Amino acid sequence: MRPVCRQYTLADRFLTKRHLPLANPVRAFKHATMNSKTSSAIEAKRDDLIALTQDLIRIPTLNPPGQDYRAICEYLDRRLSAHGFETQMIRAFGTPGDSEKYPRWNIIARREGVRGGDCVHFNSHTDVVEVGAGWTFDPFGAEISDGKIYGRGTCDMKGGLAASIIAAEAFIETHPDFEGAIEISGTADEESGGYGGVAYLAEQGFFNPEKVQHVIIPEPLHKDRICLGHRGGWWAEIETKGEIAHGSMPFLGDCAVRHMGAVLNEFENKLFPAMAARRTDMPVVPEGARSSTMNINSIHGGQAEQADDFDGLPAHCVPDSCRIVIDRRFLAEEPLDQVRSEVTDLLEGLRASRLDFDYELTELNAVLPSMTDREAPVVQTVSQAIQDVMGKAPEYVASPGTYDQKHIDRIGKLKNCIAYGPGLLELAHKPDEYIGIDDMVDSAKVMAAALESLLLPKA
Ligand SMILES: [Zn+2]
Repeated sequence: MRPVCRQYTLADRFLTKRHLPLANPVRAFKHATMNSKTSSAIEAKRDDLIALTQDLIRIPTLNPPGQDYRAICEYLDRRLSAHGFETQMIRAFGTPGDSEKYPRWNIIARREGVRGGDCVHFNSHTDVVEVGAGWTFDPFGAEISDGKIYGRGTCDMKGGLAASIIAAEAFIETHPDFEGAIEISGTADEESGGYGGVAYLAEQGFFNPEKVQHVIIPEPLHKDRICLGHRGGWWAEIETKGEIAHGSMPFLGDCAVRHMGAVLNEFENKLFPAMAARRTDMPVVPEGARSSTMNINSIHGGQAEQADDFDGLPAHCVPDSCRIVIDRRFLAEEPLDQVRSEVTDLLEGLRASRLDFDYELTELNAVLPSMTDREAPVVQTVSQAIQDVMGKAPEYVASPGTYDQKHIDRIGKLKNCIAYGPGLLELAHKPDEYIGIDDMVDSAKVMAAALESLLLPKA
């Protein structure tokens, strides 16, 4: 099946929007050393944190297809309502993948303080990717071994979601007189672009800077790192065209796979070396992602592969079509137009130089890079919190892949947003994914210290 270009319109819309200044600038913030009572409250909730994480892992919110979103929202609803949060469940009707069988449910929970003030929002995606092969633990068993909880989604990112809930609950318990508000959201579909999750909520105004002033996304960037943003992405399908003929007389047809070979050759000889030579000033980790990169996601040419139980032989045909999907990740220094034209220029060059070369390029999606300023209040606050809790200065990083910050930035127009959470990014989507229990506790302390700094009355 040809991939259908369903996301382009939405993506294109936010690409063309311009940033607006903050409608109401965030208030002055102060640095505070963490209250030892809050820290003790988090320690006391260690078993609760473990049980909460295990419960979340045991709801297998696989995406695709996007299952059990309602179940995990209901679980979070019960949990957060019991702790004084007002909750709203929002289905992203009509977004990619939304159906009666697999509805895209999201939850936003809000707890008001005793007086007005800033709102701190923790946003976690509830979906997890497919299990894949190579597991030695039950992917949805949430088994504990050697201080770690194992399972799909432990690090990416139910461990971070659990840590943010415990941080908020411990903070509220210790400081019932806090000012402003705390929001916790569990959102769908981050792993497939976030259109049925944060993008939808942002379009409904849930990330309006007048309502929400600080956003922390507990993605697994590690407990002593602050992630300021991410590289851009451009996804496209390229099809080379040929002409079908009998395989014994290929000269009577035109082989689309050979044309695609020429495309890949151009990529190998020109595009890959050019991308590797580019370096960004963004603090992207791991190091390899500081250059521009491209993955060839898939290649299909000629006859479709038959089912496993088919034991016949192929018929002999010259393929008249070959398709690849490319996944191009680009740097803040590279304009999207250049990313596009680099590929189309190579293809046009082949059209001019190679006999009968013809192609079609279909853009599937595009996301611009996003970077929050290091001086932004949420960056400064979490930085100080890491210093207080961990006794060391944080490392500032940027993510090789995109995450929901793009929608908060471009649709919500909310720039004061970071990713901060427990877990090792390298474990995301891998077999035997795990989250360290101590890491979750430490991260929860950092999140609670940030809440103290942002939501307690200023001395
Ligand atoms: Zn994630």
